[in-house]
Amino acid sequence: MAFVGIDLGGTQLRVTVADERGRLKTVVRRPTEAHRGRQHVIDRIVAAVGEALEADGTAARQVRALGIGLPGPVDPSAGLVISPANLPGFRNVPLNRILTRATGIPSYLHHDAHLAALGEHRRGAARGASEMIYVTVSTGIGAGILLGGELYAGAHGIAGEVGHIVLQRNGPLCTCGQRGDLEAIASGTGIARAARELAPGTPGSALHGLEHPHAQDVVRAARAGDELATSILENAGRYLGVAMGTLVNLFNPQLIVLGGSVIKAGNLLLRPMRRSMNASSWKAARRGLRIVRPALGDDAGLIGAVEYARLRARHARLS
Ligand SMILES: [Zn+2]
Repeated sequence: MAFVGIDLGGTQLRVTVADERGRLKTVVRRPTEAHRGRQHVIDRIVAAVGEALEADGTAARQVRALGIGLPGPVDPSAGLVISPANLPGFRNVPLNRILTRATGIPSYLHHDAHLAALGEHRRGAARGASEMIYVTVSTGIGAGILLGGELYAGAHGIAGEVGHIVLQRNGPLCTCGQRGDLEAIASGTGIARAARELAPGTPGSALHGLEHPHAQDVVRAARAGDELATSILENAGRYLGVAMGTLVNLFNPQLIVLGGSVIKAGNLLLRPMRRSMNASSWKAARRGLRIVRPALGDDAGLIGAVEYARLRARHARLS
């Protein structure tokens, strides 16, 4: 018996065939080609599943379940893709039904951030932590929450949208339409935007004169001692800490896994984050709390998709 796991991003599609214990055996990678629209992407998914099964020497009828993670918002209980920003044309698409029909394998979708959390919980840095939150800070900011060792997705799969907690009234505009939410301030996009806005008025800064400063440029300049770059990361870290403190007070987790490209800025971001997290949460809520880096890297979502397929197959057998 086997399982199929899929990680569908705006740029990359990855499909894996795993054995019954969830160990990845074969991985196929393809560009998503999201700009070519919904049907094209669905055809690519189905083709990539076929290729992965063939490369693995596994027949579709030997596969118990297929799990697929994709950017939110998605509604896992309804099997619906609602409207992910980086998958144009996907609006209220019943992807579970479409993939089940096209592959002959019972298929189950979920939010990619939630599946990354599940992956780290089952096979990575969060094993054994029953109350845990996985926070990713990169282009966007998202989180997956496990309570009592189980994924907590909310009524319609939207739980964990920590990036869209509003922290600054009339702050910068987010892609979601809100102003001053965490993602608009502390994501890679938010850090780059701050550099773009502040650098022209700061002639002494290394960021001054850069046409399209990226978050990495800010990190590089801050490491070299640039004052403006350092203050941008401090500001991002401070707001990230307020959101983390809020999560700590709300969920009282034992463990927070903190990952994503922006976290690689290290202490320039993490020191102010820690300080403001401690200032915005109760000491009692932080008792025993550990904050760790992810162990599975880029594979967390793919491993999580396999673990989700295993979970759903188990439920299907019991019901
Ligand atoms: Zn937002």
